[in-house]
Amino acid sequence: MLYLDHAASGPVRPEVRAAMLPFLGDRFGNPSSHHTVGEDVAGALEDARRRVAAVVGMRPGDVVFTSGATEANNLAVKGVAVAALLRTGRPGHVVTTAIEHESVLSSVEYLHRVHGVAVTQVGVDRDGVLSPAALAGALREDTVLVSVGYANNEIGTVQDAAALTAVTAPARIPFHLDAVQAAGWLPLAGTGADALSLAGHKIGAPQGVGVLAIRGRVPLEPLLHGGGQERDRRSGTQNVAGAVGFAVALELAEQERADAAARVAAMRDAFIDRVRERVPEASLTGHPSRRLPGTASFTFEGVSGEAILLELERRGVVSSSGSACAAGSDEPSHVLVALGVAPEVAQTSVRFSFGHHAVGDPAPIADAVAASVAAVRSR
Ligand code: PLP
Repeated sequence: MLYLDHAASGPVRPEVRAAMLPFLGDRFGNPSSHHTVGEDVAGALEDARRRVAAVVGMRPGDVVFTSGATEANNLAVKGVAVAALLRTGRPGHVVTTAIEHESVLSSVEYLHRVHGVAVTQVGVDRDGVLSPAALAGALREDTVLVSVGYANNEIGTVQDAAALTAVTAPARIPFHLDAVQAAGWLPLAGTGADALSLAGHKIGAPQGVGVLAIRGRVPLEPLLHGGGQERDRRSGTQNVAGAVGFAVALELAEQERADAAARVAAMRDAFIDRVRERVPEASLTGHPSRRLPGTASFTFEGVSGEAILLELERRGVVSSSGSACAAGSDEPSHVLVALGVAPEVAQTSVRFSFGHHAVGDPAPIADAVAASVAAVRSR
């Protein structure tokens, strides 16, 4: 089987599994316990926190371990906006884009519905790029947060994070970067972001662990209340095995990043060229060059994306029609619609996402795509 859905989830790395195993065995203590069994585990948790902080260029105390990036995004968006509301007594204004992950879009919708927070979804261009000028134009005197995805999970377009944070920094508006898809491909430190979300299962750690790294100066209201773990920003006994695995995965992803990005981008380009050569109706979505090294997404006008996926799977190629959350729904992708793609064309989309360790000739995959499109078309 050729698995080309790494943007949805990838396998746990052996090094990560090995690092986690002791915490699923003998090292079982509660990191909040004041005895040697707990303190041993607390030490490992703090070591993991330091290692994550080093990769993202923040302080260990800025790292909040979560149950994944959905929680990290909810915590960033709701936590910052509600903290501002409590401080000022005003609902405030949040800026995001129309192509964000559902965990961001649903969080801003919640803020609007429950707390009356004003929301602006800034438009992106046809390639999915948010321009610094468009962001600047959306800011208001009462803007309390900007939340933008570093790299889009459906089309792979990469935003110029430094140029965007340069817009918000002078106004001292906290900038949250959903860096889930960027990890292991793009630098995470030095973006200028005040908060950054990451998910373990996109970098070789398990599902169900993630991080919100948020600078200490940004006031944050917790979502989960209880024992005050994670410096009172996320109560609940930590998933220590997950945190340890996450730190190992992130460190390795960072060490291997430059090599992986160059190798996989070359493979992806060869794949794109061959698909275009062999499938006349293939149209690449997202930015032609400012895209994640592992992502190639197409629309195949006139041919159902779901039907192509089934044909591909019969030929041993596993891919997806866009985001895993939207997969299976009949709705066209909100991302493609925001780029100006007609809804009926958006329903012909297929996303191929290579993993960081991908090697080999992508021609057979492109040939399977051509055969699958031809098979669906000839029905
Ligand atoms: N943000 C982006 C850009 C994603 O791609 C994903 C996962 O697909 C998430 C957030 C949510 O992450 P998790 O699956 O850890 O909840």
